[in-house]
Amino acid sequence: MLRQVAEGVLVHESEFVQSNAVVVHGRAGVLLIDPGVQDHEMDCLANDLSDSGQTVVAGFSTHPHWDHLLWHVRLGAPPRYGTARCAATVLDQLSDPEAKARIADHLLETEIAGQVSLDLLGLVTALPAGTARIPWDGPQVRIIEHHAHAPGHAALLIEERGVLVAGDMLSDVLIPMLDLDGTADPIDDYLTALRLLEGVAGNVDVVVPGHGSVGGADQVHARIERDRAYVLALREGRALSDPRIGLSARPGWEWVSDVHDGQLQRLAQRNERDGAPR
Ligand SMILES: [Zn+2]
Repeated sequence: MLRQVAEGVLVHESEFVQSNAVVVHGRAGVLLIDPGVQDHEMDCLANDLSDSGQTVVAGFSTHPHWDHLLWHVRLGAPPRYGTARCAATVLDQLSDPEAKARIADHLLETEIAGQVSLDLLGLVTALPAGTARIPWDGPQVRIIEHHAHAPGHAALLIEERGVLVAGDMLSDVLIPMLDLDGTADPIDDYLTALRLLEGVAGNVDVVVPGHGSVGGADQVHARIERDRAYVLALREGRALSDPRIGLSARPGWEWVSDVHDGQLQRLAQRNERDGAPR
């Protein structure tokens, strides 16, 4: 079911890790950001769109992780954009013939085993590096690219509607998940990305995270601050109280504490190897 969060901006929520697909109404059709996860959910989305006489004229993947790269044949075959770095990362991942099999294996361990089709995964059209806006006939969508969480990750700012599509940041259920494989300084990259989002936050009335609840104007700064506090505590190896982990984690989200423990361990290993960060 599509739910309107701002004029001409709607969200379709998946059962899987509360993933949010975002629909933006344009003049000739809609822009679809991170389409969803399970086949039947994207089928439902396709029904919602066709019931309202809409077709998808462009897609966008916020970052190169499988749950943001899926597609359904009923959504048509418009260009599915990503940043140049996102597209290059996907291409590199999929050049490994075992890549989809590995995702399928991972899915077998989840409650959505058998519900996800990987056929159309990752068919991302690269936007030229530095592209400022999504090329489409609709409200201007600004691309805010950074290096937090995944290579070529982009948040999208729909300025005329006051909506920030945050990708996998600013979630009320997931902690900041650092890109511990890729970048030289994942903590610094994350803090830089948060500053970029903070720079536009004044014009944001609605924040849509890749996973979690849609937040109102009061949530934008609060979520930036909470993510920053998390990352700073992680950097300093400090204990922290964060409502997303430990005893305050929501029922069904206890596993996020394991992600936190894993990040602490891997950062400690990195520091031992490379020396502690500044
Ligand atoms: Zn995700």
